[in-house]
Amino acid sequence: MLTALITGGAGFIGANFILLARNNQWLNVINLDKLTYASNLQNLAELQNDNYYHLVQGDIGNIELVTYLLEQYQPNAIINFAAESHVDRSILNPQKFIQTNVLGTFYLLEASRFYWQKLSSQRQQQFRFLHVSTDEVYGSLNLKDPAFREDTPYAPNSPYAASKAASDHFVRAYYHTYGLPTLTTNCSNNYGMRQFPEKLIPLTILNAIDGKPLPIYGDGQNIRDWLYVIDHCKAIYLVLQQGKMGETYNIGGLNEQTNLSVVEKICAILDELVPKPDFSYSSLMTFVKDRPGHDRRYAIDCNKIKRDLGWQPQENFDSGLLKTVQWYLNNFDWVNQVRSGAYQNWLKQNYENR
Ligand code: NAD
Repeated sequence: MLTALITGGAGFIGANFILLARNNQWLNVINLDKLTYASNLQNLAELQNDNYYHLVQGDIGNIELVTYLLEQYQPNAIINFAAESHVDRSILNPQKFIQTNVLGTFYLLEASRFYWQKLSSQRQQQFRFLHVSTDEVYGSLNLKDPAFREDTPYAPNSPYAASKAASDHFVRAYYHTYGLPTLTTNCSNNYGMRQFPEKLIPLTILNAIDGKPLPIYGDGQNIRDWLYVIDHCKAIYLVLQQGKMGETYNIGGLNEQTNLSVVEKICAILDELVPKPDFSYSSLMTFVKDRPGHDRRYAIDCNKIKRDLGWQPQENFDSGLLKTVQWYLNNFDWVNQVRSGAYQNWLKQNYENR
């Protein structure tokens, strides 16, 4: 089995990926994560006694640490999930996004290149650096525009998107300049279990259960292309195995939804699962001032990964959303620990150098 250094593996997508990778014996995993507010080690608790999974707390921007881990564990691949990922936070504090998403990725690339250059030619050929990125780098679409393709010009509109765009360009440059075998994936919005409750879907589920307003930006007509997180993880593994070096692959759900319709669907599910007499959760919907620079529409053309690698999304949005709502309803301990601050306190006690 191959060994991968996975960064940001204690976050939403990274944790789902690691669980799949270990449960299916795809990979041995070293998880390098800074353990920021967005991380959650409870997600990976079931791997506590797994000898082929190791957690290292640290920053992808710490080139000495990354160099040490590469030399120590001799991985065949690096999968870079680590990022500051929340657009609203990037508007309030863009500097952190530059620090991790741009500089962090740069130092990770530097350490990878020095490591890769020292490998035997056989191991050099096996090695992969897979960078996980977003469709937000392409900017915003109008209703009738064709979906984003891999050759759509970059036009990021938020500090988050700009920082991811910069990191994508560095990854590309390391392939063309140094020959580092890189792959980039640009994916649409993910949803599913274990997502930090600041993002639209978990926020809506949990606010609704608490009887709190369900905030909807602007007129609610912004469109996102939603993909179930497990479908995304499977696509990443496929690209890692079969992707062509230096290439980028768009990954999407073929599932465009307005924010309003997503919130309405969640309310309808909760009306069924947790009914309250003479009450619909939709009465909690509240339109709020739009986010500055809010992109109107994202849509992914994923024909390349379908055609070249045979991937396509498996999960239907209605069933995926139902599973997601059920997961949050069945995991109140997880939710309470995240929201009460108990998890943050535990992290501080156990990982004091954060
Ligand atoms: P997340 O915010 O849930 O998790 C990010 C993880 O990275 C956290 O565990 C955090 O502790 C860690 N991290 C942050 N800074 C770090 C640093 N300097 N060094 C090491 N670890 C660090 O994010 P996510 O939603 O799981 O997204 C993962 C990746 O996928 C990101 O690169 C994001 O841009 C990309 N992506 C996300 C989506 C989505 O809908 N969530 C869609 C497309 C692409």
